[in-house]
Amino acid sequence: MQYEVDYMAVGDGEKWGDAICMRFWNLSWPRNEWSVVVIDWGFTDSWENLVNHITKLYWTNDVNLVIATHPDADHILWLHVVLEKLNVAQLAMHLPWNHASDIKELFKNSDISTTRLETKIEKALKNASDLEDFAISKWIEVIEPFQWMEWFWWILKILWPSKEYYEWLIPQFRETPKAKESVFETIWKSFSDAINWIEDQFDIDLLDDDTDTTSAENNSSVISFFQIWERKILFTGDSWKTALHNALDFAEANNLDLTNLSLFDVPHHGSKRNISSKILNRISASMAFVSAPKESIKHPSKKVTNWLKKKGMNVWITRWQNICHYEWGLNRSWWGPLQLEEFHEKVED
Ligand SMILES: [Zn+2]
Repeated sequence: MQYEVDYMAVGDGEKWGDAICMRFWNLSWPRNEWSVVVIDWGFTDSWENLVNHITKLYWTNDVNLVIATHPDADHILWLHVVLEKLNVAQLAMHLPWNHASDIKELFKNSDISTTRLETKIEKALKNASDLEDFAISKWIEVIEPFQWMEWFWWILKILWPSKEYYEWLIPQFRETPKAKESVFETIWKSFSDAINWIEDQFDIDLLDDDTDTTSAENNSSVISFFQIWERKILFTGDSWKTALHNALDFAEANNLDLTNLSLFDVPHHGSKRNISSKILNRISASMAFVSAPKESIKHPSKKVTNWLKKKGMNVWITRWQNICHYEWGLNRSWWGPLQLEEFHEKVED
């Protein structure tokens, strides 16, 4: 059994969003013996990057599954190109507008008709709704990924979100109609852009544990777990702490051990708001990949990369370059080694 996981750097500056593509199982056998999955694709300068990677390096035009983790532009804006240029069998993405009748009561104006609410949610999440429309026009099967779902004979398991949790989040999305006071939980806090630097040392823990301060959209991210033979990979999108804890609870309850991962996809471009020591005490991995732009002081947080290193993980950051994690000796001789992230003496306060 073999696999390759590639983080393709696309976009630059403030507008980025790496795409992840992978293939796994009997890679040296005919195409039907292995599968190709693409996870997210945000802003890009040229669509050729990822498409060529799959056609020229994987030697196929067929993608078995595309996963759109959540509706933010840096994750889905260019995914339609994958659907257009390659033969995609299935698209896994949430369709919040289809839940309108279930969640009407959660909105301030619960008298609204289901159709009207549906339209408002579709408008609020236009990028996502356009992606669904595009997939339908190409006859691609669209499936909502919720907890318990599995693909590829149990290789891929969706750990989170559950359908109930996802529905609770929809009224809290930025552009959807206002949620009822009782439902709405303030998850937006204002942050100052100034960074105070403090000393870090190898033996102290600087990640605070209790604040959940990212957007509901981020928190709706699909958390997926791949077990390819005995190798395990966890993808987290931009999910925040509550979602991660829920995913970890689910994994533990179902005897999925996440303490010996081969690859840990660090959530939300390495932001310190999405991860805590409590979460990192429940996960361990030999490698951690961070999808982050070329020049950003906040992404990834040095606190986060330091703590990953303290946990014994080797950390690599895309920073606008492609990075690859593979098993069982595939030939990538033209890909050079990438510099490991170092331990930082000073971290953000
Ligand atoms: Zn993001």
